[in-house]
Amino acid sequence: MNIDLFNYLERIANLMRQEIRLDGQSLGLQPVQQEALHYLSICNRYSDTTLAVTEFLGLTKGTVSQSLKVLQNKGLISKVKDKTDKRITHLHLTSVGRTFIDKTYPPAKFSTAVAGLSVADQEATKELLQTVLRNYQQAAGRVAFGVCKHCKFNQPSSGGILCGLTKETLSTYDTTLICREFLD
Ligand code: SF4
Repeated sequence: MNIDLFNYLERIANLMRQEIRLDGQSLGLQPVQQEALHYLSICNRYSDTTLAVTEFLGLTKGTVSQSLKVLQNKGLISKVKDKTDKRITHLHLTSVGRTFIDKTYPPAKFSTAVAGLSVADQEATKELLQTVLRNYQQAAGRVAFGVCKHCKFNQPSSGGILCGLTKETLSTYDTTLICREFLD
């Protein structure tokens, strides 16, 4: 059973990677550069630094720094100093980077395959995969980088949604992003 599940997920991941890489080649991007760009498109403002990209991808700082330089040279990301702490540099997608991501994620053939399921089956599959991911992250000791709305610090308050860790207000969109500080 486990081996079947593993083989299906592995095959799906492999097909997705192949399709995504073909899209990336249109901009001359290496897979690692594309992964860094995708990460920056789905992470929140506490997680868009070089260090966070390095932690998320599990690669060396040198490799990640080189990849980010390529993304910057291609006009896909830009560096922005933090408004209150000038030691922190955020990495933001430019409009060109955002357009590329919106056009290529999720990849078209994957979307076609998922569209073959009913809406109820799509929801059920999402829930199950979410649980598998959470269990896998716990087993691997890598619980960070979860989706904000499921974090224990995510607190509804009279003024909106509050991050209990940073004490800052979060928008509904913020709560859909992944965070380096996430805690289950
Ligand atoms: S609530 Fe959790 S996941 Fe959301 S911003 Fe705060 S620490 Fe990050």
